[in-house]
Amino acid sequence: MEAAPGDEKLARLLAPLREDPGRAAILTDVDGTIAPITGRPEEAGVPEHTRELLRKLAAKYALVAGISGRRAVDARRIVGVDEIAYSGNHGFELLLPGNDEPLPDPSLDGHEGDAARFVAELDSAELDRAGFRVEDKGAIVALHWRGAPNEGEAESLANEIATAAEWQDLVSHRGRKVLEIRPNVPINKGIAVAAILAAKPVRAALYAGDDRTDVDGFTALRTLREDGDLEAVACIAIASPETPPEVIESADLSVPGPEGFIEVLEALAA
Ligand SMILES: [Mg+2]
Repeated sequence: MEAAPGDEKLARLLAPLREDPGRAAILTDVDGTIAPITGRPEEAGVPEHTRELLRKLAAKYALVAGISGRRAVDARRIVGVDEIAYSGNHGFELLLPGNDEPLPDPSLDGHEGDAARFVAELDSAELDRAGFRVEDKGAIVALHWRGAPNEGEAESLANEIATAAEWQDLVSHRGRKVLEIRPNVPINKGIAVAAILAAKPVRAALYAGDDRTDVDGFTALRTLREDGDLEAVACIAIASPETPPEVIESADLSVPGPEGFIEVLEALAA
């Protein structure tokens, strides 16, 4: 158990948000932050107690949003809370409370189909033989090879595809046994966070996450503070054995796993 100094630091970080919730925003990654990591990503879910806390926070704070690499509608399904906003696909989509359809990021204009067009021109028989599963995420297409008959061979083919994509002015992004093909549009969780905050008159914001892509969220909050657009920010790392060290190093405070983050949400809701 972390001793009192950690609790004091947490209380100090949360104070500006708790003092004026009507002008404060709570932004959270989904997988590994509020949804515990499961062996199979399709089985991810958010505990009922966390859902109740998110609903309470949505009623109290100016803005509560899930920020996810998943499609926005998938993030909302996993979280199971309709009252908060979801920025999905690393910021390419924004799903507002009460809306059925996500809004595409304005920067995507004209590039929505770039990745799909590229993947459609690949040799689909070769992809099938190599054991790829193609996931259509709208503006992004993901090629998964987990469980392929020969994962090494599939990975080599993925590397060739990534090179070809970059030659065609697309962006390739590698995850664990997955290659994402993205349009060449500057977007990340940080840009998404800045855009979502720009629409709300908030002066304090918290961002919580467990992966490299979440560091962009931390950076965005600090840039807004330096520019005078925010007065106070809190960057919370969710520490688990798989959390990259840079996430913990760049956070103001780390908490032990999604269970540790529940205590932060409880303090914000109290
Ligand atoms: Mg995560």
